Amino acid sequence: MKALLVFAALSLAVLARDTFDGHQVLRISAKDELQLSALRDLEALDHLQLDIWIGVRDVSTPVDIRVPAFSLSTVKSHLDYYEIQYSIMIRDLQVALDEEAEEMDAATRDVEPRNTDAFDYSRYHTIEEIYNFQDMLVSENPNLVSKIVIGRSYEGRPINVLKFSTGGTSRPAIWLDTGIHSREWVTQASGTWFAKNIVDTYGKDQVLTAILDKMDIFLEIVTNPDGFAYTHSKNRMWRKTRKPNPGSSCVGVDPNRNWDAGFGGAGASSSPCSETYRGPSANSESEVKAIVDFVKSHGNMKAFVSIHAYSQMLLFPYGFTKSPARDHGELNELAKKAITNLASLYGTRYRYGSIINTIYQASGGTIDWTYDQGIKYSYTFELRDTGRYGFILPANQILPTAKETWLALMTIMDHSSRNSY
Ligand SMILES: [Zn+2]
Repeated sequence: MKALLVFAALSLAVLARDTFDGHQVLRISAKDELQLSALRDLEALDHLQLDIWIGVRDVSTPVDIRVPAFSLSTVKSHLDYYEIQYSIMIRDLQVALDEEAEEMDAATRDVEPRNTDAFDYSRYHTIEEIYNFQDMLVSENPNLVSKIVIGRSYEGRPINVLKFSTGGTSRPAIWLDTGIHSREWVTQASGTWFAKNIVDTYGKDQVLTAILDKMDIFLEIVTNPDGFAYTHSKNRMWRKTRKPNPGSSCVGVDPNRNWDAGFGGAGASSSPCSETYRGPSANSESEVKAIVDFVKSHGNMKAFVSIHAYSQMLLFPYGFTKSPARDHGELNELAKKAITNLASLYGTRYRYGSIINTIYQASGGTIDWTYDQGIKYSYTFELRDTGRYGFILPANQILPTAKETWLALMTIMDHSSRNSY
């Protein structure tokens, strides 16, 4: 009996979610090169187990770091020693996560939605709920939506893509994905709303109707299924895939450093424990390889938009090299127009530009690869917010985020539709 109790306690411990009691998210502002380099040194100290939410860029961009309780005094004295200014963005992460979980639990107490009209788009959902939503959407709109399984995740989950098509064969197409970094929950939630919005406004909204009469839209909502399931079951802060790394106790690869574009260069880590670990080789992650194979076999993709959070930015290639993209001028103009339209709804301000000039050097990124495949309109979004909540954006911001982002997406999709033959 005693053994049974011990076993039960152990299994509970294994099943329980990771907690973040006393973890703080600090916003750190370096004012010169010396302070920037002191911050880079800090980031590199593995034993502090820092989780870099926004990494070191330049003096004009603050750095956001989640600091475990046991590292707080070390980090704060390091910052004080170099006289680096910081503020506490989140005082106790677990308190914020408890609120989020409570809200979700309250939502799931309601009956399961019987159709996509009854689905609650203003809440965060589990992978099972989103997969059910996809199936309902397909069965309600068989002439407009179909589901394609483009592969399997490492843990064997189907990698689902919704195809919105009004007919024709080998039409030019637009690709949208959300949630390649699993903890960026507002992206999967927005993707779900996008899907519903497409079926609700086709035939009513002139611009969308014109796009869909000429092109297909592919939408992958849960682009990192294992990671997303894990953010619900175990660790809300999980970003990477869930494939084990041989010879290391650290799991997972950053799926936005795993593409065959400057793979292995600066701006990605070779350490399996890093949040930006690039993986053993390009396309080593089945979640990435599935998209690569799909895009190649499709052969007529005109726009590719990969959606992340947070920091309110609209970015285009390149990330791995300083050389400007051939279409830099056009991509820049279109980005400006897109964020202007985005801001027209609620006044949300976005920055825009090439990845390397706007954030920092990043190698092996999604849209550098798609651009080099000839997909001219390759963009990455970083949705809300700018750091007040970061990855744990309150659910009451899902709908405003999705709606304003849609305006920018429409700008990009409309432009690519008019400029693709
Ligand atoms: Zn991301």
